[in-house]
Amino acid sequence: MSQDDIFNTLTMLVKEVLFAMCGTILCIMGLASMVSIISGLGLRFVFGIMGAHDDEEGIQPAVSGFLFVLLAMQTGITSITGSNRLMLLFQNCVLLFVANQHVVQTVAANLVLRASTEEVAVANHVRPMLPYLVFFTFPFTVVASLWHYPFRMSWLLAISAFSLELMIKSTTTLSIYMINMFHTHTNYLQENVEDILFYFKAVCGCLEFACGIFLLLNGAYIFFFESGGIIRLVMMIIHFYCNIYQTALKGWSTYKLRQSAWEKVNKLQPASQEQLDENDDICPICYQEMTEAVVVKCSHVFHKACLQKWLSIQEKCPLCHMDLTEDNLSPQSNNNIAQPIR
Ligand SMILES: [Zn+2]
Ligand SMILES: [Zn+2]
Repeated sequence: MSQDDIFNTLTMLVKEVLFAMCGTILCIMGLASMVSIISGLGLRFVFGIMGAHDDEEGIQPAVSGFLFVLLAMQTGITSITGSNRLMLLFQNCVLLFVANQHVVQTVAANLVLRASTEEVAVANHVRPMLPYLVFFTFPFTVVASLWHYPFRMSWLLAISAFSLELMIKSTTTLSIYMINMFHTHTNYLQENVEDILFYFKAVCGCLEFACGIFLLLNGAYIFFFESGGIIRLVMMIIHFYCNIYQTALKGWSTYKLRQSAWEKVNKLQPASQEQLDENDDICPICYQEMTEAVVVKCSHVFHKACLQKWLSIQEKCPLCHMDLTEDNLSPQSNNNIAQPIR
């Protein structure tokens, strides 16, 4: 037998085995355990390169196997005959690969952003950035080339939107990293860094949200016109609840809280010299010197910008936890608008 014959025979054998392993749900579960082990090893290897520890936020035990079964059931792979079954298996594996890239991105983002705000070795900056080489090249090489093959349009759109979402997340992470680094090492962005970060995250969040909506519409198209089924419907409801409804709710409440914090703090009275002296001229939020400050109704004084940031997260006094949800937080309940402090 020539080398070509051996290769062809082996390929045939692998195809036959894979075809048979997608024949029943029980076989799919067997295959899923193998997928789980392989992607678990892959993820562990990548996390090792990135320098992530096992307790890192975002690291989950390999959920790939579970996803593999769901995708198989959703696409009804067991009932498909001929070479289409292997094609579908390939499509599901590509989706799974992009899903795993999203998992890696979540962990990498934590490491990259931590490196930008803490004093760490250069390696801790470089190592978690290595996967981004894949995140940015994969959509332009693999995903783009898939469009040349006769895959279903809906799948091509889904994989492209899913990869685009990954690129948006990656761009957000790397840009925030650069803004943080610029802020730490230069004096240009001192006052504005919070605003820049807020608006930047808001724009990226909206783009990600648009990808989520697109994926939902694409899923709905597949459900109504290509392949329905209860599993797909459940997956769509989960996607809608977790990636669209929850995201929209979180985004809106962040925006409202920030908006109200800005409005409230702008109305506060400036602190008097005696009030500053009581605090030893130190801001209780940032521990930096205070030459100018604002005073809230419990008579505690803070830097205006520090208090704005604080109230954007929680509406309580950082020192005495007094409720600061009301509109008028000034100690005197008159309507004099204080001069804004520069
Ligand atoms: Zn401060
Ligand atoms: Zn207080």
